[in-house]
Amino acid sequence: MQTYTKKAIAEFFELPFLDLIYRAQTILRQNFPANEIELSKILSVKTGGCPENCSYCTQSAHHKTALKKESLSLAQVQESAKHFWGCTFSS
Ligand code: SF4
Repeated sequence: MQTYTKKAIAEFFELPFLDLIYRAQTILRQNFPANEIELSKILSVKTGGCPENCSYCTQSAHHKTALKKESLSLAQVQESAKHFWGCTFSS
């Protein structure tokens, strides 16, 4: 893993945006196949219903938000997985 000094990190903030994109793309191509991307999707399966208290998360029941509490059933999660990724499930 590469380590950076505070000075080196501060220098990233001074880079022109397109130079920063170029540097990021260069590092990506050194470490991953070019022109391939991996798509991800996050399902909120228990919006407002999780007993944990992670302040950034809309699934936590500890924070008052404008979101309506709702949870997805196993069948709904499986249907989403099938729809977005073509996954199939057996019981
Ligand atoms: S509140 Fe925390 S533990 Fe619960 S779903 Fe969110 S991130 Fe996960």
